[in-house]
Amino acid sequence: MTKNLAPETVAAQAGGAIDRETGGIVPPLHVTTTFLRDPDNQYRKGYSYGRPDNATVRQVEIVLSELEGGAASLMMASGMSAATSAFLALKRPAHVIAPNVMYWGLRKWLQEDAPSLGIEATFVDAADPTAISAAVRTRQTQLIWIETPANPLWTITDVEEAARIAHAAGAVLAVDATVPTPVLMNPIALGADVVMHSATKYLNGHSDVVAGTLVFKIKDAYFERAERVRAMLGAVLGPFEAALLLRGLRTLHLRVWHQSASALALARHFAQHAGIGAVLYPGLQAHPGHAVAARQMRGGFGGMLSVRVAGGEAAAIATAANVKLWKRATSLGGVESLIEHRASIEGPSSPCPPDLLRLSVGLESAADLIGDLEHALAAR
Ligand code: PLP
Repeated sequence: MTKNLAPETVAAQAGGAIDRETGGIVPPLHVTTTFLRDPDNQYRKGYSYGRPDNATVRQVEIVLSELEGGAASLMMASGMSAATSAFLALKRPAHVIAPNVMYWGLRKWLQEDAPSLGIEATFVDAADPTAISAAVRTRQTQLIWIETPANPLWTITDVEEAARIAHAAGAVLAVDATVPTPVLMNPIALGADVVMHSATKYLNGHSDVVAGTLVFKIKDAYFERAERVRAMLGAVLGPFEAALLLRGLRTLHLRVWHQSASALALARHFAQHAGIGAVLYPGLQAHPGHAVAARQMRGGFGGMLSVRVAGGEAAAIATAANVKLWKRATSLGGVESLIEHRASIEGPSSPCPPDLLRLSVGLESAADLIGDLEHALAAR
């Protein structure tokens, strides 16, 4: 596709892909698992076998590299396979730094599985750059992992500061940018080396695909090791998922801006509500990370917020039980709004308070969503 196009143009036209054979404006879904060799035994077309090579998957990679301003991206079978590949691609033994507040599944893997693979994580308050600096071990720290805004408290990390600290230590900065999406924040432009997305969420946007990606600023030896991890562990994305993802990406910008606007309306409304102890949303000026978020995001603060229900855990669970419109379900970033009592998923080792409900704001009318939650709070 022609360079210098706006990201929404790249996304809407799926990176310019068409079917060259028929002129179809939707690119074909490539399902083949194997490819013909040239008569002299070569594979000059660049495709040999379906595990490392699939043209539908590669088209999604082209779009995501463009949206994130990276040199290359690797689509994976899930957000978790993308995230763990970023760690498994390090030379072992490896010391890494990760936030206390982060996607709980990855924190669990870092705590319980990564040590036996030669990866030791130090967990820090990533809202505080001095805490990140203090955890750096000279010549040992290879990667700093951050997530911003971070699940489920929507803690903000200053990406530029984290990049400075990582690079001074000779480490890589990787950012889980699932929640801001490339619409609201481009970590590579802020100094990051790698961007990770659970494409299961906003990138696909329709709650019908599990997928993940790593986007790399440069195609270096670290990229090649991550590509090898993907090929060897077989953490590849299937072509059907890739085709759905390519379709979902076409409306990414419309969805994310709408969801951000609705989330802000909900946050402002419930910040004043007697049934709510606190609203956690970086778009509110009272949020401790608001100034940093306003600087590094594009004016929208994302479609995710949490509320702490007055009356504690039982009141929170009762509120979730009383909604009619919101769907009581885990995950986020789809067109339908989700509500979740997060502590019961994350368990006692989590920093998530027991009175917290996590809200993923979809594309319904914000007034309808506010009305349904008002009703559920009154009935609890
Ligand atoms: N990162 C974030 C912020 C998430 O919310 C999730 C999933 O909930 C993941 C990573 C893991 O992604 P997946 O479920 O696609 O493996």
